[in-house]
Amino acid sequence: MTNKTYSIFGAGAAGLYTAWRLLSGQTREHEHHKLLLKGDKLELFDWGKYDFSKEDHGSRAPGARVCTWHYQDDPGKSYVELGGMRYSEWNSKAKDANNGKAPGHRLVTTVIAKLGLDQYSVPFNESDNPLYYLRSENFYLQDVTSRNPAPYNANNYLASLSPNQGFTVVEDLAVTATTGPQTRREWDHFYQHGKITAELPESSIFQKGDKLKDIGYWNLMFDQLGSEGYNYAADGNGYTSNVINWNAAVAFQANNEFTPGNQYKTLTTGYSGMFKTLFETVKQLAKDKGVIFDYQPNRRLHSILDIDHVIHYNIANRDNPNKKSASGTTDAAWLAMPRYALELVAQATRYESHAGLDVLNAQKVQLYMEASIMQPSYKIGMFFKDPWWLTQASYAPQLTSYEVTKDVLLTLEKQQFPERYLLKIARPAVDAQAEIMNTPYSSAESLLKVVEQRLQERLTVPQEEQLLAASTRNTIGPSVTDNPVRMVVYFGNNATDKTAEPVYGLLAAYDDEMFTTFWQELELGPDEQRHIPISENTEPLKGPRKLPPRMLKMVRKQLANIHFGPNADFTAVPEPLDAAYIDWSLPPFNAGYHAWAAHYDIGDVQQKIRKPSQLIPGADTNIFIVGEAYSNDQAWVEGAYCTAESVLNDFFGVIPLIDNTHYPFICSGK
Ligand SMILES: Cc1cc2nc3c(=O)[nH]c(=O)nc-3n(C[C@H](O)[C@H](O)[C@H](O)COP(=O)(O)OP(=O)(O)OC[C@H]3O[C@@H](n4cnc5c(N)ncnc54)[C@H](O)[C@@H]3O)c2cc1C
Repeated sequence: MTNKTYSIFGAGAAGLYTAWRLLSGQTREHEHHKLLLKGDKLELFDWGKYDFSKEDHGSRAPGARVCTWHYQDDPGKSYVELGGMRYSEWNSKAKDANNGKAPGHRLVTTVIAKLGLDQYSVPFNESDNPLYYLRSENFYLQDVTSRNPAPYNANNYLASLSPNQGFTVVEDLAVTATTGPQTRREWDHFYQHGKITAELPESSIFQKGDKLKDIGYWNLMFDQLGSEGYNYAADGNGYTSNVINWNAAVAFQANNEFTPGNQYKTLTTGYSGMFKTLFETVKQLAKDKGVIFDYQPNRRLHSILDIDHVIHYNIANRDNPNKKSASGTTDAAWLAMPRYALELVAQATRYESHAGLDVLNAQKVQLYMEASIMQPSYKIGMFFKDPWWLTQASYAPQLTSYEVTKDVLLTLEKQQFPERYLLKIARPAVDAQAEIMNTPYSSAESLLKVVEQRLQERLTVPQEEQLLAASTRNTIGPSVTDNPVRMVVYFGNNATDKTAEPVYGLLAAYDDEMFTTFWQELELGPDEQRHIPISENTEPLKGPRKLPPRMLKMVRKQLANIHFGPNADFTAVPEPLDAAYIDWSLPPFNAGYHAWAAHYDIGDVQQKIRKPSQLIPGADTNIFIVGEAYSNDQAWVEGAYCTAESVLNDFFGVIPLIDNTHYPFICSGK
C-alpha cells in the first residue's frame, strides 16, 4: 500500500483537533487504513506562527482565536484572555451524563481530561449581581425593582427586571420550561421546524405559526419588546452579537445560556494551554507512530482545486500572502479556518486557470458559506499594581459568590454535614426562585436564607461556616455598560507563581459588532495616516498590540465612569502597568465568532459544507471545511471540535470520542 498525505490548513482549534484524532482515533478494522499510519505524512500549515513550545516558538500564544496574554509574556505571571477564555464543564460521571439534556461542552471537557489538563481546571463563574453603567447611571442588578427601574422606557415592566428578561419574553413565544425543546436533538429539530406557538395580537408583525428560522432575531425582539425594551436587553446583556438580525430559532437556544446549571471553567495555565498541549501531543504521537509530521507556520493556503480526482493546492508565504510560492498534492485537505479566510482562498482559486473542480466557488457552496454571519469583536487587556476596582471604586463589582454544586455536597458529606440536610439541598426546587443547586448567590445571607427555608431549620454557626467555605466561588463579573468598552471582566491576580509580586489583570473592554470600529480609529493618533490597508492588516496573527496613549485615556475614562460614577475623571483609574488589545475584526479572521443567518436550513448547511463537494451534483472530493464558523456551537471552541469530529466519524470511519447518541456533534438537518 502506498503512503498517503493528509494536509490541514489552519492550526487553530479545529485543525489541531483533527491532527490529534487522525493520530489517536480508533476505527473499525476495515477502515483502519484511513487513519494516519507509519510512513504517512501529516502536513499542518498556518498563516500565523504561534508559540507552541521552545522548539516551535512564535510571536504570540497559540490557539488562533484563543490568545492568552501573560504579564511580561511570563507564563508564571498573571494573565488575561484576549480571545476565547472559558468552557462549560460537562460532568461525564453524572448518572444522566449522556442524555441530551446534561449541560456542558462535551468534547472540550473530554479533550482537557484526555490531555491531563483537568488538574488546571478552575471555575470561571459569572456574578448573579453584576454592576451596570447604562445611560449614565451606575447600579447593580439586584437594585433593579419596579420602584427603581433601569433607565429605559420599556413597556410591560421590563425595566424593573434583568435585561436578560427580554430574551425570556421572546423565547416564551415558543419555548417554556415544560414545552419546547429540552435536548440537543430536540433543539436540532427546532432549528428547522420551530414556530411561534403563542397567540399574538393583530398589532404584532410576527404571528402564531411563523417559522423562527425565517425570522431575524433583531426584527423579532424589536416587534415584541419595542424599541426601549430591545435597547435595554441589547445594552444590558453585554454582547451586541446576541441581538443582531440572526436566525431567531438558533438565537433562542444560544441566549438560553443564561439559565442555571452551566458551570463555566477555565485553565490556570490560560486557555492557550490547551492548544500548546494539543500541539505537543500531536508531535509526539506522530513520532511514536512513524508518521512524518510536517508543520509549516507562516504559510497559507492560497488556492485549491481538484484536477482529475487529485487535490492540488497552492501555498503563499506570510510576507507575500497573495502570491503563490509553492504547490503540492494531497489525499485529503482540511480547511480548518473561518469564513473570511475561506473566502480569500475561494477568491484566489477563482482566478486560477484550470479545468478542474473548483469546489469553493460552486454557487451552492458560496450560498452556504454566506449562511454564517461574521461577528467582529475586540478585547483590551490591562495589568495593574492594585485591584483598584475592589479597593477604591465607588461602585465595586461583586466578585464573590456562593454556589452549591455536586462537588460541594461531596465536600460537606466528608465533613459530616447532616445527611438529611444534604438530601434536601440537592432536591430540585418547586419554585425557580428557590433553586439551590448550581445557582450562584451573590451574598452569604442570600444563600443561607434559601437553604434554611428549604431545611425549615436554622443551621448552627459551624454549619454555616462549612457551607459557605465549601461553596465560595470567585466570579469574573462582568460589569456591563452601553459605553464602547461594553464589558469589563475581572481576572485579578491569577499568577501560577504565587511568590512573585502580585499583578492584577483586567479585561478592560470586551465588545463586538460596531463597537470594534470605535477602538479601531483610536489605534492611530491624530497626526497619523493609515499605511496598511485594513484588508491586509493581519495583526491578530502577530499578537497583542500596546495601547497608544489616547486609546488608553479613552478606556480609563470609561472604566472611571463605570466604577466611580458619570462625572469621574479618567485619573480615578490608575495608570496600568501594561495594556494591549487584539482586534478580531482584522484578517484573516474578520470575526471573533459567527452566527447563523435567518432563511437557511442550518442543518443542511452543517451537513453539506463540511464536505462541500456534496453540494455539487456528481462531484466527490476529499476537501473538508471544519471549524467554529459552520458548527452547532458557534462562538465556542466546542463548535470547532464538534465539526472536526463529525468529519472524522462520517468520512474516515473514526469511532466517536464520546457517546454521541444524544449529543449529535452537528445538526442532523432533519
Ligand atoms: C473575543 C473572543 C471571545 C471568545 N470567547 C470564547 C470562550 O470564552 N470560549 C470558547 O470556547 N470560545 C470562545 N471564542 C471562540 C473560539 O475562540 C473559537 O470558536 C475557536 O477558537 C475557533 O477555532 P477554529 O479552529 O474554528 O478557527 P480559528 O481559531 O480561527 O483558527 C483558524 C486558523 O486558520 C489559520 N488560517 C487562516 N487562513 C489560512 C490559510 N489560508 N492557510 C492556512 N491557515 C490559515 C489562521 O491563522 C488560524 O490559525 C471566543 C473568540 C473570541 C475572538
